Amino acid sequence: MAESFSNIVGKNHVISDSVALKTAETTTFATTQTIKAIVKPGDVQQIQACVKLAKQQNVSLYPISCGKNWGLGSKVPVQTDNVVLDLSRLNQISNYNEELGYFTVEPGVTFQQAYQFLLDRKSPFFSPVIGGSPQASLIGNMLERGDRIGPNLDKISGMSELEVVLANGQIIHTGLGHFQNSQATGADAWGVGPHVNGIFTQSNLGIVTKMTLHLTRKPNFFKSIYFMVDDQKKLPDLIKNIRLLIQEGAIANNTLSLWNSYKILAKMGKFPTEIIKQRMKQNPLGTIKSGLSLVLKDITGKEPWHGSCYIHAASEAIGEATQQHIQSRLAKVTDQLQFSYLNESDMKGDGLLLGEPQSDNIASLYWRKKGKLPETFDPDRDRCGAIWCCPGIPFIGDHVTKVIEHSEAMIKRYKFEPNLGFFAVTSRLLYLFIAIVYDRELENEDIKAMQCHDELLESLQKMGYFPYRLGVQSMNALPDAIDDYDDFLKQLKTALDPNNVISPGRYTK
Ligand SMILES: Cc1cc2nc3c(=O)[nH]c(=O)nc-3n(C[C@H](O)[C@H](O)[C@H](O)COP(=O)(O)OP(=O)(O)OC[C@H]3O[C@@H](n4cnc5c(N)ncnc54)[C@H](O)[C@@H]3O)c2cc1C
Repeated sequence: MAESFSNIVGKNHVISDSVALKTAETTTFATTQTIKAIVKPGDVQQIQACVKLAKQQNVSLYPISCGKNWGLGSKVPVQTDNVVLDLSRLNQISNYNEELGYFTVEPGVTFQQAYQFLLDRKSPFFSPVIGGSPQASLIGNMLERGDRIGPNLDKISGMSELEVVLANGQIIHTGLGHFQNSQATGADAWGVGPHVNGIFTQSNLGIVTKMTLHLTRKPNFFKSIYFMVDDQKKLPDLIKNIRLLIQEGAIANNTLSLWNSYKILAKMGKFPTEIIKQRMKQNPLGTIKSGLSLVLKDITGKEPWHGSCYIHAASEAIGEATQQHIQSRLAKVTDQLQFSYLNESDMKGDGLLLGEPQSDNIASLYWRKKGKLPETFDPDRDRCGAIWCCPGIPFIGDHVTKVIEHSEAMIKRYKFEPNLGFFAVTSRLLYLFIAIVYDRELENEDIKAMQCHDELLESLQKMGYFPYRLGVQSMNALPDAIDDYDDFLKQLKTALDPNNVISPGRYTK
């Protein structure tokens, strides 16, 4: 089989040695899926040929762009014995439009590369980034409907034309991309007729080989905002006021994050083993049977929540007026509120909030690892344990409190730290991202962490809070549809990919 793929992509681009395969089979939690080979096509024609060959050979392909899906499965396919189709060699940026603000990227284009591309051209635009790896891909992130940090973003309408290779080897261009001489292809996310971009996200219906993405204009006035409440009980009032600020347009969609102290601590440093050992000596009744866990309230008496967002305005006058309005709403419901200008270099394009990818957040996956942080982060290699659980929550204080209390209690019961963060997607919807972080080297921790994740996901669903994104281990975890929806998805898959050539099991049962 490897030889047949070599005939298409060249033998240097087919990897079948056991060490490399083992590495690709490793993610930040325990999995059992094996990979038959890794095939790295160099162009779209080779991808078409691979798809046809896969059908002939009765093997499934699992396309990845850069494979940095840490905490959700990395490069590991949903099912066993797939061939991983690694698209990272396709890494061109084209079709950059400096007036309208868009560019077209291939799967191997990373957040870092896109940032550098725009910086080199002194672009007035930036491409919003994530808190994950700078070496993650724009396309993989968009196809997962990931959350990038930036104003006026929308996951689906932020992409216009997609180029997609279907399971039968055909190629389609979505939006207006299938019309000769269309002038508005890059600008128009919707085209005419059924809008299909969404069906290629969180799905297994095609291999996306190009995506045109809309960029965000750099602000003329920019101020970052930090706020804090020292007690969880104050969250409902805070949530209400943030919702109003977004509804009023003072704070933009996709710019506000709210983190608990465990999440901040995990990003800042290592697990405070010595402090906890000390505490346990003082209070032997508090001794924990399976490993140490940090309960901040026992140590500091407090578990504050920290918020950040920014003002992104057309002028100083508008920005200052916006600040006053935000101040009038948040001052009375926070214990700390700060507004700060970013310095000159930040305004030139540095800073996560203005599109500069940064890797410091990855340190949080090393929270429970012993020893020093490595020079380069690779949580798969370093056997960091991390599993995300990601429910969507209505933007209402009561829902937020209910979900936090439930999640914290369950995670603490398993002796992990409740590492929780919210992201304000719109004024209606909050994404909650819960990271279960542990050390894979420790006996039984893989099992315990997955049990904790599964129980959490299942119980949140029972409470009515469904995930907005799934890890490879949980593609079967959604309950059956109460109508014909599951059957509708099956009909789509059967029509487009009857032989299960592309990513079997991904976001389908
Ligand atoms: C500390 C930390 C912080 C993070 N912060 C964020 C964040 O702020 N926002 C966020 O969204 N995520 C975040 N993540 C999660 C994750 O790292 C990112 O979503 C990242 O973009 C995924 O990696 P990738 O882009 O290389 O995608 P890939 O791993 O390449 O792709 C993800 C999946 O999409 C499918 N896919 C990829 N490419 C194609 C293609 N061309 N055709 C068809 N299917 C394809 C595959 O099934 C693949 O497994 C974070 C992770 C960590 C560890």
